[in-house]
Amino acid sequence: MTSQPVPPRETSGGHPTSSAAGTRLDPWLTSYAERTHGMRSSEIRALFAVANRPEVVSLAGGMPFLEGLPLDVLGDIAQRVVATRGLQALQYGSGQGDETLREQILDLMRLEGIEAHPDDVVVTTGSQQALDLVTRIFIDPGDVVVAEAPSYVGALGVFRAYQADVAHVPIDADGLVPEALESTLASLAAAGRTVKLLYTVPNFHNPAGVSMSEERRPRVLEIARRYGVLVVEDNPYGLLGFDSEPRDAIRSLDEDGVVYLGSFSKTFAPGYRVGWVVAPHAVREKLVLASESAILCPSNASQIAISTYLSTCDWRGQIKSYREQYRERRDAMISALAEHLPEASWNVPAGGFYTWVRLPDGLDAKDMLPRAVTARVAYVPGTAFYFDGSGSEHLRLSFCYPTPERIREGVRRLAGVVAGEKEL
Ligand code: PMP
Repeated sequence: MTSQPVPPRETSGGHPTSSAAGTRLDPWLTSYAERTHGMRSSEIRALFAVANRPEVVSLAGGMPFLEGLPLDVLGDIAQRVVATRGLQALQYGSGQGDETLREQILDLMRLEGIEAHPDDVVVTTGSQQALDLVTRIFIDPGDVVVAEAPSYVGALGVFRAYQADVAHVPIDADGLVPEALESTLASLAAAGRTVKLLYTVPNFHNPAGVSMSEERRPRVLEIARRYGVLVVEDNPYGLLGFDSEPRDAIRSLDEDGVVYLGSFSKTFAPGYRVGWVVAPHAVREKLVLASESAILCPSNASQIAISTYLSTCDWRGQIKSYREQYRERRDAMISALAEHLPEASWNVPAGGFYTWVRLPDGLDAKDMLPRAVTARVAYVPGTAFYFDGSGSEHLRLSFCYPTPERIREGVRRLAGVVAGEKEL
């Protein structure tokens, strides 16, 4: 066996010392894999530390309003799960996920017109892990992911981590614009780029709050199919419409061209960290292998707790009550914007957690953020939701967590900051 000589590395006490490219702050700087170079700390994470201070009204995070959950009942379930099924719940489990839960997930997805088999479902540690797995099995460095402009910050982070390029496609009040998708895919093809995935949040978009119209769904699917691009349909908010029944999922139109991502985080509780993927057969096998190498198996304790909740509690009633609470908060936010910030523009979301605001007079939401935090209100600047950091004239406001009263106070503070900006 031959081996290439490895150049000696300067070491001291077993650690590499700082070199020309290294630094004393991080002696491992020159060792990191290339794929880490695009990783950066999420603007949301940096914000959480300040935004969580009680005096700050946080319109930043997407945390569900868990006070609406029956915590005593969930406590009983947790106790019962360990007492009666502890040897299973606390043991390793299947890499694909608990079979009973996978069957129950089918009931949820039927509300969006999806007919699938339990074998098509892979349970994941939140849909964030599903995003990671899908990206991991499809993306080589330099491959392109087409995504809405703007897009969920956590998905952009995953795409960066796997060294994808992201091509943004505009959205309007009816979601992704099919003509823009077509022309983007045509020019990427003409440039010889390899486009692997179309990432979309079709319902109550994070951060834009809009939904893809029913009329556009088959058109988007047809365009993606024609260009050989797999659709990744990320749908954590679909059951949280305020005034209407859930729309049929894109996956309900096509079994082979769509990978569907679901989650219990917004309709139940994110702390269990349970989400799922529905994927075509061959894709699903690769997802299970990738998931086993990442985490061995999703948490049995969480899955059994959720499964017991679904079979013994009124989960439909819980979702209805969430929808009512979020509708009231949405109304508070929209009326406060109309009262205090009439010179800005925003959309009125019909579900979900977020409003997307455009600041007046070319103001820069990222520049303004430190002054907003000083004024005790937090939001996420639009730049977080664009791969190239554009979008500074926008900001995302979440209405999911604070009470209506706090939301009104937060918007009032924000309006004060905007007024101050104009005088700067
Ligand atoms: N996708 C979207 C669009 C989201 O908004 C979120 C959470 N903010 C996720 C995926 C991840 O959710 P989880 O991992 O909690 O299921």
